[in-house]
Parts: sequence; C-alpha cells; structure tokens
Amino acid sequence: MDFTLSEEQTLMIETARKVGEDFGLDYWRELDEKGEFPAAIWKAICDAGLCGVALPEKHGGSGLGMLDLALVIETLCETGGGATLAQIFMTNPIFGGVAISKHGTDKMRAELLPRLISGDMNCSMGLTEPNAGSNSLMVTSFAAKSDSGWVLNGRKIWITAVPQAEKMLVVARTKKPEDSKKRTDGMSLFLVDVEREGLTHSSIPKVGTRTLPASMVYFDDVMVMPDELIGPLHEGWRCLLDVLNTERIVTTAGLVGAGRLAKRLAVDYACERKVFGDRPIGSYQGLSFPLAQAWSELQCARLMNYQAASNFDTGGSYGSESNMGKLIASQAAYRLIEQAMQIMGGMGYAKESHLERLWRDARLFRFAPVSEEMLLNFIAQHDLGMPRSY
Ligand SMILES: Cc1cc2nc3c(=O)[nH]c(=O)nc-3n(C[C@H](O)[C@H](O)[C@H](O)COP(=O)(O)OP(=O)(O)OC[C@H]3O[C@@H](n4cnc5c(N)ncnc54)[C@H](O)[C@@H]3O)c2cc1C
Repeated sequence: MDFTLSEEQTLMIETARKVGEDFGLDYWRELDEKGEFPAAIWKAICDAGLCGVALPEKHGGSGLGMLDLALVIETLCETGGGATLAQIFMTNPIFGGVAISKHGTDKMRAELLPRLISGDMNCSMGLTEPNAGSNSLMVTSFAAKSDSGWVLNGRKIWITAVPQAEKMLVVARTKKPEDSKKRTDGMSLFLVDVEREGLTHSSIPKVGTRTLPASMVYFDDVMVMPDELIGPLHEGWRCLLDVLNTERIVTTAGLVGAGRLAKRLAVDYACERKVFGDRPIGSYQGLSFPLAQAWSELQCARLMNYQAASNFDTGGSYGSESNMGKLIASQAAYRLIEQAMQIMGGMGYAKESHLERLWRDARLFRFAPVSEEMLLNFIAQHDLGMPRSY
C-alpha cells in the first residue's frame, strides 16, 4: 500500500488550491449572506478541468478516478467553501456524471458529458420524497408507460440546486409494488429537463448551506421521452447505488476539507489569543484535546474514504467503506467545527470568523445525504451480520 501522491495528483491538488484561494473565505461569506449560488467559482473549477477529473477523457474529462476527485474536493473545500462546495460536485459529476457515464446511452454521453464537464450544464437529483424519506424504496413517484414514453407524476422534497439545474436525475417507480418481485424491482432512473411542462418547484428556507437552494419538486403529468431513461427499465436501483455510494465519497471529501479549514482557523486563533498572562489559549488542554480528538477521527475517515474511492476505481466493492467513511467524517467534522467555535469564544459566533457558516453547513451532513442511523443500520446488517432492525 503506497500513500505517495503521483506527480499528476500533486499537480491537480496545487491547481485546486490555486482556484479555491483565488476566491477565498470572504467570497463564501458574502454569497452565504445573499443566499446566492457560487456560479463564479464553479465556472473556474470547470475551466481548470476539475469537474471532469473522474469522467472519461473521450468526452472532455481527465479519465482519472474517484480517488483523484476526492483529493481535489478536499483541497477546494479547505480553501473557503467547506462541505457545501462538495455538494456541487455531488449534483454535477456524481448525479449527472456517474449516472450518465456508467449507465447512460452513447448518445447521452456524447451530448451531455462535455457540457457537464465544461460547466455549461448543471444537474440535480430527485430521490427523496415527503412520505418516503430515508426509506428510498418506498418512493411513490410513478412513471406510467405511454405511447410516446412515460408520464411522470409525484413529489420530491429537499432537492438541491434545482433552479440552477438543466437536468434532473429522477428516481421513479415504473412498476407498482404489487407487480414487483422484490422491493428493489420496478424502479427506474430518468434524466429529465427541469424546464418542462408539469415540473414545478419551490424553495424551502433552511438553516445553512445557503448558497445552494433546496426545493420541493412537483411532477404533474410530466412527459418523459424514451431516450431519457438511464440504465435498464425497472432495474434502476442497482444503477442508483453507484450514484449514492460515490455521493458519499464526495461528501466525506468535502467534510475533510471543511474540517481542515476549521482546524486552521482555530489553531491560528488559539496560538495568538492570550487571556490570562502570556500563555496562548491553545496551550490549555481543555481546548486542544477535543480538537486533537476530532482531528484524529477525521484523518481516519479520510483514509477510509481513500479506500472506498480506490476500490471504486479498481472495480471492487466499496459500499461499506464509503458508508463508514461518511459516518465518521460527518461526526468528526461537526465536532471539530463545534470545538473550533468554542476555542474562539465570542469571535466564533461572529460572521467574520467564518466558523458559524461552517458549523451551520456541517450540521446537514449528519443526516444527509444519508443519516448516521441509516449508516449504522447498514454497517450492523452488512458488516456485522446482525439482523435487520426495521
Ligand atoms: C439541505 C438538504 C439537501 C438535500 N438534497 C437532496 C437532493 O439533492 N436530492 C435528494 O434526493 N435528497 C436530498 N436531501 C434529502 C436527504 O437525503 C434526506 O433528508 C435524508 O436522506 C434523510 O431523510 P428525511 O429527511 O426524510 O429523514 P427521515 O427518513 O424522516 O428520518 C428522520 C430520522 O429518523 C431516523 N430514522 C429513519 N429510519 C430509521 C431506522 N430504520 N432506524 C433508525 N433511525 C431511523 C433518521 O436517521 C432520522 O434521524 C437533502 C436534504 C437536505 C436537508
């Protein structure tokens, strides 16, 4: 096992750092205050070739792997955006990129991947539903066969970056549960235009990740064309797992970047700030130990994430690794950011310290894109061999 970075990886990390630092922390604070999509940095990321790191060279990507993408995301997120920036990698190279490159048709790949990689097209994914939540197999959005394709009806909740997206990867039933042999049977994936008759959306006000809107989405007799099906009809669940598990790798990378950023801000402050005499507050173990503990956990999660990404790249199984990495990363990053705020005292609560933004944003990842409890359920069942609890 060799942990040395290749020359190419080192160069990519340097590029990512340069792109991110050109924007920096204040860019994100201002956008967060305005609730504005970070279009300029995303364009710069795409122009630098960083959106397509893990997508095929033939269609404008770099043809590298998920591990390379994780390295890029960690670095970019560390420069100011925190884990929120990783969400744009979820919506684009994962929801769009992985779905199209692994399960789309040749036509879709040729037409859509170059546009996605260049930043000309944004994507989103509509999986979660108000009445299904974590129980994704209970989605009820239904695409009924018609003469010209399918007619889609249903509702989705919490869908990220819909107003910015041209396409949405929609998870829908194409067979009624009673006609399906097992729970995973009868689900299909479609890549539909967001601007289409019958598809409407409305924004949901929320605590953090304010640069990326989350929306309710309504499908009322939305026409879906035959060439919008991704993967085999009724067998979308298997394809969806590739999207969800790589989404976890990207989430963990984002949390690693956010944690690194918070650590840097806290350590810089703690080494300068003196309250009682000449010793900086960083010398108090009551402050440094919790930070050191969370930092260690985050580093372990990072390594687990590398294993997940590397397994994906070499065609191995990576579900357990990506789940365990995400579980620990979300807890460790949140604790680290929380402790960084504590270290800064009142300053940690001020907008100018940037930590309150990272703190609001990091809270999301303890239950999304998948909750801690659902990850523990998976690990207990699949890694420990315990009976299913629900
Ligand atoms: C800001 C934001 C952005 C999002 N973006 C997207 C997106 O782009 N696309 C998309 O499809 N979805 C998106 N989501 C949805 C997200 O994936 C879900 O919120 C998440 O999966 C949890 O589902 P839920 O909110 O319905 O919680 P629920 O499923 O209702 O769960 C509520 C609580 O019960 C616990 N629980 C549920 N079942 C069990 C069980 N069997 N055992 C133990 N505990 C259990 C959960 O862990 C959780 O703590 C987003 C959510 C948010 C908040």
